[in-house]
Amino acid sequence: MTSKHAERITGLRVQCLPQPQNAYALYSDGANGPLHTATSHSPSQALEMLVKWHYDQMRLQVFVEQHWRCWHCWGLKALSCDHIKPRAHGRVDQRFNLRGMCAECHERHTRNEALEIHPKMKTLMSGVGYRWRGEWGLGVEAWGWEKLDVG
Ligand SMILES: [Zn+2]
Repeated sequence: MTSKHAERITGLRVQCLPQPQNAYALYSDGANGPLHTATSHSPSQALEMLVKWHYDQMRLQVFVEQHWRCWHCWGLKALSCDHIKPRAHGRVDQRFNLRGMCAECHERHTRNEALEIHPKMKTLMSGVGYRWRGEWGLGVEAWGWEKLDVG
């Protein structure tokens, strides 16, 4: 497994299957059986498929939890998935590092405009057990989402 693949699925385990050739399975601790398996003509391609599958799952989870609202403007628009700690600094496709933004807000964010979480998003997310800690790269030690124990 390349470091490029590994850094994206931190916290999950990849295992090469005995057969067929270039078959890999993705596991998470505590789950029975693999989350997903992929087979391809090369190991690298198979791993890429696992990483992409996982990212698609995470992305959908983010959008559903956000009720398809933009993190910043609360707009009900087509969302794209933003990595709070950017890809260039290690692309971690984990829930704490992801949020959904509309195209307009995402573009403003990539132009380095300071955006803040919408108050309603804060409330919504706390209802599903997440606390917003802050933006990565602003000298904040803890950033992104913190998963709270609810119930
Ligand atoms: Zn927006």
